[in-house]
Amino acid sequence: MQKLLRKPKQLVQIKNKQIGDKKPILIQSMTNTKTKDVNATVNQIKKLIDAGCDIVRVAVLDKEDALAIKEIKSKVDVALVADIHFDFKLALLALDCGVDKLRINPGNIGNIENIKAVVEKCKEKKVPIRIGVNSGSVEKEILDKYGSPTYQALVESAKKHVEILETLGFYDIVISIKSSDIKTTIQAYQLANEVFPYPLHIGITEAGTEYSGLVKSSIGLGILLYQGIGDTIRVSLSADPILEVKAAKEILASLSLYDKPNLIACPTCGRTEYNMLPIVEEVEQFLSNINKKITVAIMGCVVNGPGEAKEADIGIAGGKNCAVLFKKGQIIKKLEYNEILPELKKEILKLTN
Ligand code: SF4
Repeated sequence: MQKLLRKPKQLVQIKNKQIGDKKPILIQSMTNTKTKDVNATVNQIKKLIDAGCDIVRVAVLDKEDALAIKEIKSKVDVALVADIHFDFKLALLALDCGVDKLRINPGNIGNIENIKAVVEKCKEKKVPIRIGVNSGSVEKEILDKYGSPTYQALVESAKKHVEILETLGFYDIVISIKSSDIKTTIQAYQLANEVFPYPLHIGITEAGTEYSGLVKSSIGLGILLYQGIGDTIRVSLSADPILEVKAAKEILASLSLYDKPNLIACPTCGRTEYNMLPIVEEVEQFLSNINKKITVAIMGCVVNGPGEAKEADIGIAGGKNCAVLFKKGQIIKKLEYNEILPELKKEILKLTN
């Protein structure tokens, strides 16, 4: 595949993770537990990390949530972001409790003294700030100017927040500009990519349920990533956040931006003469625990199957209640139906261990 050209962006450090400067695109998600429920939050963070999440965000709504950050950080080693709206005191408390990044809009936390207090503490603790603009957060005067939250309005709103930080000598910035409208989001990020030297956190906000949200995010993020735009990614789904991480990995891997197994499977048709779909499901599950790049092909018949199976690292082309096993382009065995799954697993492990 053609190498995607990414514009280098300023490098931002979040604990032991780096965003920008053409570093690997990091995966983010957000817990949906009450942050002050430390056990539930820590459990979910652990699951997110196991699934492949690089950076986790928690909502900080009050003092208890902010204080919980300290306990969460003592129980799980994670690059943690506090999502705070309007209350600069919560930001200061989260910083004192050891948070690694703030998601806060400086223009929304009151007078310049409040902003200065947060910025100075971020400087002292080397904590970056993500400015997150979305259609619902565009300021009235900008909305009046553009008539609606157009992509230009979104970028202008982000600029306003960025300039506040830059005026205070703060440049440790990540920017997100999201709309639930895919086209607006794409145009906004395209413009932001030209205008800002800071890394971009990309996502389609309020994308919807597991199914529709995944489709919308794949289109929006896929187009942006293909254009080399985006330094960190969050897939927003109205579903278990673990699924967001799985989806993000799949989107990145589709563009060769993430190393994970690639499962190729045909849709099956009238030519299929073995029960293929349970094998596909089980192999997909099996591969989800493997972090190496390997291509596995599961094909339904001997008409189109051998071509794909030969190209894969390991593959099968089905026959009548049987299959032919290919490894690195060569036929190595003919398998009866009940041998297919165990043999595939055995060969996958041989290639990945
Ligand atoms: Fe049908 Fe064979 Fe194509 Fe699968 S590979 S969809 S079974 S023709």
